[in-house]
Amino acid sequence: MLVLEDFPSYRTIEDMNSDRRDFLKQSLLAGAALAIKPSDLFSQATTTISNNMELRFYPYTLELKHTFTIATSSRTTTPTMMVEVERDGIIGYGEASMPPYLGESQETAKVFLSKVNLKRYELFFSLEVILKDIDAIAMGNHAAKAAVDIALHDWIGKKMGYAWYQIWGLTPDKTPVTSFTIGIDTKEVVRTKVKEADIYKVLKVKLGRENDKEMIETIREVTDKPIRVDVNQGWKDKTQALNMIEWLATKGIEFVEQPMPKDQIDDLVWLKEKSPLPIVGDESITRLSDVRNAYGVYDGVNVKLMKCTGMREAHKMITLAKALEMKVMLGCMTETSCAISAATQLSPMADWVDLDGAVLIKNDLFKGATIVDGKMVMPKGPGIGVTKI
Ligand SMILES: [Mg+2]
Repeated sequence: MLVLEDFPSYRTIEDMNSDRRDFLKQSLLAGAALAIKPSDLFSQATTTISNNMELRFYPYTLELKHTFTIATSSRTTTPTMMVEVERDGIIGYGEASMPPYLGESQETAKVFLSKVNLKRYELFFSLEVILKDIDAIAMGNHAAKAAVDIALHDWIGKKMGYAWYQIWGLTPDKTPVTSFTIGIDTKEVVRTKVKEADIYKVLKVKLGRENDKEMIETIREVTDKPIRVDVNQGWKDKTQALNMIEWLATKGIEFVEQPMPKDQIDDLVWLKEKSPLPIVGDESITRLSDVRNAYGVYDGVNVKLMKCTGMREAHKMITLAKALEMKVMLGCMTETSCAISAATQLSPMADWVDLDGAVLIKNDLFKGATIVDGKMVMPKGPGIGVTKI
């Protein structure tokens, strides 16, 4: 529980030790005048402030239940790096999920995390300062940064005894329904996957290949549930994209995610103006500044912890998107229940969520957020609400 010393200044240990040295130097001078024994001061001078916050990490490979195919790639595993921070007998858990197409790997995460020194901070509530320092260690490494961000959030929440949705003032039963993702596949596999997705109220379908209409029609043969479509930048021509969206609008589709390449801004603006369905940016949206740039280009933004460096920046992105009257989708990679539970803490702020990452894997490491009747259920515990299996 909280004790006064947990309410921090923003200073690092180096700052404090430097202040102490200045103070002692002046005291020695004053002490000489006041005849204070130098040995008394020396005993203080050797006392430095330190903490024993441990940062640990280990690689872990997620095994997917199905081969996962999107417009640009296909795979059966996802490499991750699991992170733990420990102090005062409390362990905070974090996770970096790194689908290869995003450019990070277990090797890059290891190099980055080796440079993170949490021992230099006196206290751990100053996330604004700590996470800014971590962000400045190196460019990129967004998933590795997110892993530390999530672990520190978990630790702080546990130390305080509150979950992050409580700290943020969110209502746990306002979690939206989550969509269940169906990758590009043969008719037979698509039908099987739709049946497996029985408990989900909304499906998310990956498009962007030559069989787009066939995919939708196959699903419509078995269900009339609302469908969200993710094209992963797969359509290159704006007129073709508009024609497809107009066709999709007659098929019970909720919105279209990243229909065209992120650098075709003029085409995307044109498409947004004409589209009968909302257009959501995903590949275009990485960090906070991208939300500002998305205004006028997209109707909504897809925020993902692994892209945006973690919970703190995601909270800022959602707040900004709301201020710009844009829709917010909260998404994920294939992740364990660790990162999914972290995202679930934010989910009452989102219009749409796509947090099925943990149910797509065979070897979860945590218990936390669950999905009941297609709706995200907020985990009960403090921090991000997870326990290790
Ligand atoms: Mg997407």
